[in-house]
Amino acid sequence: MFLARLTSSEFKAVAGPELMALIPLGSTEQHGSIGPLGTDFTIPEELCREAEKENPDGLVVLPVVPYGVCPYHTGFAGTIDIGIPTLQAILTSIVSCLMKAGIRRFAFVNGHGGNDPAIDGACAYAYEHGGLGAIADWWTIVRELNPAWGGGHGGAQEASVMMALHPDWVHKEKNFVPEEIYSLTPELKSTYGSATSFRGATVKIMRPTEAFTKTGTFGGSNDSCALADPARGREIFNGMLQWLNAFLAEFAKAPLGK
Ligand SMILES: [Zn+2]
Repeated sequence: MFLARLTSSEFKAVAGPELMALIPLGSTEQHGSIGPLGTDFTIPEELCREAEKENPDGLVVLPVVPYGVCPYHTGFAGTIDIGIPTLQAILTSIVSCLMKAGIRRFAFVNGHGGNDPAIDGACAYAYEHGGLGAIADWWTIVRELNPAWGGGHGGAQEASVMMALHPDWVHKEKNFVPEEIYSLTPELKSTYGSATSFRGATVKIMRPTEAFTKTGTFGGSNDSCALADPARGREIFNGMLQWLNAFLAEFAKAPLGK
């Protein structure tokens, strides 16, 4: 079921420990030369919409949280950063209001890494109040499921999934610009955002995104937007959905917090 489609009384009648909240969230931010600004929240939203079909009585899907934590991307127009304290306050409020109604289990389906500290905080709140929260970062899960499904930020992985979900939002032929990464020195290689490789080990050297990447894409070897392909995107999405359905069934059996 979907929270937005129920009346308050309808929700009250079903809200309880057996009903799990599925919370899609992401970010509104630059995604390289061809990825839409809504990439990070659209993919989790679609995953949750599909997962609901598997268990419509056991899951309640929340409206998507479209803004997240991305201060480093604000040099690219259209990026909206709300910061960790604001996102954590929003997510903790969602958890506390749902707990008041009787919900105890929360699965956050996340599309953006910068959000994780804020989601950690909301999950800690849930646990302390007798609930349990899980965070599923889809882009890292799919890489674990199949290394060929991995990718970086704003590269072919995300663009491929967006091409599968919303073909009319991605204009590869018109918008593609070849990627270029700016390392600090030949020995300080920028590998993933602030992550910098030096003699086989990684340190973080903080710079805004536009300082180390021309197009906004970074982090994926073999993840150039030139390789974005809807068939690959559909395969990644379906692989993630299959895993998510199985995980949610198992998470429903996990003991709750104190
Ligand atoms: Zn993204």
